[in-house]
Amino acid sequence: MSGNNVRLQAIKDVQAYVPPAPSYVTEEAPGSVFGENVFSLAVMQKRLPKLVYKSIVATIEHSEPLDPMVADAVASAMKDWAMEKGATHYSHVFYPLTGLTAEKHDSFFEPAGGGLSLAEFAGKTLAQGESDGSSFPSGGLRNTFEARGYTGWDPTSPAYILDNPNGKTLCIPTVFVSMFGDALDHKTPLLRSQQSMAKHAERVLRLFGHENPDHVVSFCGAEQEYFLVDRHFFLARPDLLNSGRTLFGAKPPKGQEFDDHYFGAIPERVLGYMMDCERELFKLGIPAKTRHQEVAPGQFELAPMFERANQAADHQQLIMTTLKRLANKHGMECLFHEKPFEGVNGSGKHVNFSLGNSTEGNLLLPGDTPHENAQFLVFCAAVIRAVHKYGGLLRASVASASNDHRLGANEAPPAIISIFLGDQLSDVFDQIAKGGATSSKEKGTLMIGVDTLPVLPTDPGDRNRTSPFAFTGNRFEFRAPGSLQSVAGPMVTINTIMAEALDYIASVLEADVASGTEFNVAVQSILGEIITNHGAAVFGGNGYSDDWQVEAEARGLPNLRTTIDALPELISEDAMELFSKYGVFSHREMHSRYEIGLEQYAQNISVEARTTLEMGNTAVLPAAVRYQTEMALNLKALKGAGLHVDKGPLEDVSALVTDLRNGLDSLKAALVEGSGLAPLEEATHAQKELLPAMAAVRAAADQLEGIVADDLWPLPTYQEMLFIL
Ligand code: ADP
Ligand code: MG
Repeated sequence: MSGNNVRLQAIKDVQAYVPPAPSYVTEEAPGSVFGENVFSLAVMQKRLPKLVYKSIVATIEHSEPLDPMVADAVASAMKDWAMEKGATHYSHVFYPLTGLTAEKHDSFFEPAGGGLSLAEFAGKTLAQGESDGSSFPSGGLRNTFEARGYTGWDPTSPAYILDNPNGKTLCIPTVFVSMFGDALDHKTPLLRSQQSMAKHAERVLRLFGHENPDHVVSFCGAEQEYFLVDRHFFLARPDLLNSGRTLFGAKPPKGQEFDDHYFGAIPERVLGYMMDCERELFKLGIPAKTRHQEVAPGQFELAPMFERANQAADHQQLIMTTLKRLANKHGMECLFHEKPFEGVNGSGKHVNFSLGNSTEGNLLLPGDTPHENAQFLVFCAAVIRAVHKYGGLLRASVASASNDHRLGANEAPPAIISIFLGDQLSDVFDQIAKGGATSSKEKGTLMIGVDTLPVLPTDPGDRNRTSPFAFTGNRFEFRAPGSLQSVAGPMVTINTIMAEALDYIASVLEADVASGTEFNVAVQSILGEIITNHGAAVFGGNGYSDDWQVEAEARGLPNLRTTIDALPELISEDAMELFSKYGVFSHREMHSRYEIGLEQYAQNISVEARTTLEMGNTAVLPAAVRYQTEMALNLKALKGAGLHVDKGPLEDVSALVTDLRNGLDSLKAALVEGSGLAPLEEATHAQKELLPAMAAVRAAADQLEGIVADDLWPLPTYQEMLFIL
């Protein structure tokens, strides 16, 4: 019987696994491949006529409008470069709201006169593509018969060549819009929000005396957490395959309670994989920087250096694709789901955010004495106002069925969006609230008590891992985004709410100055006003505690626990006004994002429910019934031999089999009830009916896992998936 047991076979296969030959090239100097496959500024400088180069740099670096005349020259240089590198195809790459990356490939060659001839690749081809987009989510923005969608070249994110062992493709990052110009992707609103935030940040800079400030951009550094499991186990788990998370599985005897994995030595196989990934990412010009083991067994993190938000978002997508693709090459599967294993830490994607420009540098850098650094304090106050006023929108920007499992669990911030400033900054703002800041807590030194060790400077503030939006010295870290999400969504919200806050501040200051108030006095006054009106969002305590839930409610902060609570924020009067005022989303587009959010929520849960039903019926129940039968036959034999018979264990199994059957029946009925409902009703049904029905099935199955004979159990266990790499 065990010969057919998928799980036992998987274990054998894992034992027999031979890793791929290393791709390490010893002759290569470290870093020499960096950017090798990128149509970078350096490549453009070499290949483009001087004036064209100057014009494209102005667009990329200073956000000047794109001169349509340059497209032809860029297209021709890009094609030559790509073909010299062996590319045969090009692709407009875009980021639809599925969260995945979409590509449509076209050949550089076309059939002609019995052979192949070089196809045209003119500025027009570079700048615009047409695509049948009817299969991408549009949230009612289009009917299927109005399927036309357009992709448009984004010159601010460099083109690159994607290597495949069987060929190379030139990839061109693009936006994706409907034939009426409605955004159907993540990039369009990101670029719009960036533009709007910049405009108002520059107004503030002008008030501070920078007459002609360089274009302000937002920066994003995204830390990607992920799990790795051996692919043999992955393939033996239909739940991982279909929904990215385990829908069954009892807790292992040893979990993560020893915290012995965090920053632990990386297993050799995983290290080899990581190095392979980093080399591929380097070729694509992606500055992968930090790698380490995470808290849970089998969990790891990759953090690239921060970049401009738009490029960081594109690179983030490429990081995910690369991690997934190469995991397969190394016999593993990379899991991005926020909670692949119940009871084990989940995965996030912390979004580190700052803003700045070439002349001022990082505008969130406090310097040694923040109380004197009025400009920094103003930008910081903008963040405080933004987070307080629009905490609900930040929550909605990270809402998904999968992230719901993580937020508010033991390892991730709660759904209440608060802001952590650290000792030094909190103290400065406390003083401001009381009438003006005159001192900053100083950096200390850390005495380790060993004379041979250097004296280490300490930061003026501690870290607070429990805060969803924390100041970490020169940036804010938004910790609620999930590991599966595009960082574009959260960045769009951050940029837009910052645009509003900076607009407000600039308008007040401009008016004050115009009416004769001294600038410093006006700054003092607005800082005081903001911390008084919006300080309720500032919280330095333990965000995981129950007390905080109570206190946050008293402070009037929203606590939107689930996606269904959070998504309606998108279509509130306030939000729609905000996004349309700053030119990021029309009301139509907001409605479409809301509908898509609901649809995806309902779809994800219904896939999970159907998978639970199928696995319950075809894997768990048969194993349990076999064991039940085996036990009954044994009892009969024991009785026949006149031996002592204890019916207890059989009764236990039988009771659980009944529970499982009942659970499966209820789940099946709930699935039938849920079909054909309107989006909000369907999503609510998924939350209220399907999730609990799945949980009931799982409860019975997980108990059975603890008593059914090991050689009959068909699903790889948590122990196997988490600890064997
Ligand atoms: P930690 O795990 O301590 O939060 P990591 O080193 O894993 O930190 O990741 C920090 C991330 O923040 C990196 O992606 C880093 O590039 C990014 N980062 C650093 N400085 C800034 C900044 N000024 N703006 C945006 N992101 C930043
Ligand atoms: Mg972090």
